[in-house]
Amino acid sequence: MKIPLLDLGSQLTPLRDEIIEAVTNVIDSTTYIQGPEVLALENEVAEYCNAACAIGVSSGTDALLVSLMALGIGPGDRVLTTSYSFFATMGVILRCGATPVFADIDPTSFNIDPSAMAVILEKDTKKTIKAIIPVHLYGQCADMGEIMALSKKHDIPVIEDAAQAIGADYPSASGEWLRSGSIGLAGCFSFFPSKNLGGIGDGGMVVSNNIEFGERIRKLRNHGAEPKYYHAEIGGNFRLDPIQATVLRIKLKHLEKWHAARRSNAKTYNDLLSKTSLVSDDIITLPTAVYQDQAEQSAAPTINHHIYNQYVLTVDKRDDLVSFLKSKDIGCEIYYPLCLHEQECLANIIEKPVLTHSESAARSTIALPIYPELTFEMQNYVVDTIITFYKD
Ligand SMILES: *Cc1c(COP(=O)(O)O)cnc(C)c1O
Repeated sequence: MKIPLLDLGSQLTPLRDEIIEAVTNVIDSTTYIQGPEVLALENEVAEYCNAACAIGVSSGTDALLVSLMALGIGPGDRVLTTSYSFFATMGVILRCGATPVFADIDPTSFNIDPSAMAVILEKDTKKTIKAIIPVHLYGQCADMGEIMALSKKHDIPVIEDAAQAIGADYPSASGEWLRSGSIGLAGCFSFFPSKNLGGIGDGGMVVSNNIEFGERIRKLRNHGAEPKYYHAEIGGNFRLDPIQATVLRIKLKHLEKWHAARRSNAKTYNDLLSKTSLVSDDIITLPTAVYQDQAEQSAAPTINHHIYNQYVLTVDKRDDLVSFLKSKDIGCEIYYPLCLHEQECLANIIEKPVLTHSESAARSTIALPIYPELTFEMQNYVVDTIITFYKD
């Protein structure tokens, strides 16, 4: 059986006619920049995310970049973030001329550890840390309650890298569930095709509950022009394509169903793997859904305590398992084989920090196929193949 890591064809098939028609309408409208489809998507995403405003941008990377630009991050500034993330999280900091500073992750959630952040912030007596970028890795929110407390205490804005977590919910101390992206000063989403809400090309969105900040992003997205051809400040071309917007509007209507299917697939893997001795023998550690118990005890209808953009196991003999699964036509991936602080491009910029949990995760985790259309038979085959690998 051939099982890809992601099968976008199976998602496209039932929506294909609707998508072709919508794209045709955009083409026929001859409105190729901004326009009503982008505006409509912005309104729908703002509502979905419980945010006061949303600004469509060209990618998740540009969502982060324009947010840092709006904060005026530049040379001499430092930005506190996690080292266990996709390159863009750090790339945007460097492109602003600033330097990243890394806090280690919590090995249970793989998200940035607030207690490690606190140590770094206490040491920053010269107040060079000007922004905090937590990442909601794999579709589960970082510990935003603690992170926002640190943000308040040290008066440093938070930009959420929610690229993998659109729609994910976080339980606040008051018992209210907050949506990813709506908690910090701004939240950044990616519509890269592999994300839970993916376009037919690149795209992204910034959401904020601070209207003034949102307006700044809106201006910087379009070269900082206001009015047209008058530039009091320097922005860029960070606009979202209306063809992407029209496709994303169709897919957004199915997003909750897809999140639920991914959660259900995660449960199936957990159940199947728990029946083997691999879990009890600590050869495999299942992903921890940190907020699941709270979600199940809650009276609210559907809570996305995790949206499983990735289903990630911690395993023994990781690299050999990857090779074995690939040889059996099972798609899998390592997110990410190198931490950000280990990247070559950083070697001459900062002194290498010690981040034990981040490095350990990079050496021992593997992502399995988790897309919504995966069948039980496929998951069973994946697990059987994993069992075969450890038996030999
Ligand atoms: C995908 C991703 C990005 C970048 O999004 P693009 O749309 O590909 O630019 C940023 N951060 C994280 C954590 C991501 O997973």
